[in-house]
Amino acid sequence: MRSKILRCTACSRYTLKDICSICGGHTTITKPARFSPDDPYGKYRRVLGQEAK
Ligand SMILES: [Zn+2]
Repeated sequence: MRSKILRCTACSRYTLKDICSICGGHTTITKPARFSPDDPYGKYRRVLGQEAK
């Protein structure tokens, strides 16, 4: 069972709730590391980053 870590978009604090308990702002699911080998989209981001230049 995985626990989802959420991050407040308003105050950038980490929380497990959909609404920040500190400021009441909205929270979003944290993204995995950008170039993690476990990230199936990592290679696509890298290709897109090179083509963007
Ligand atoms: Zn907050």
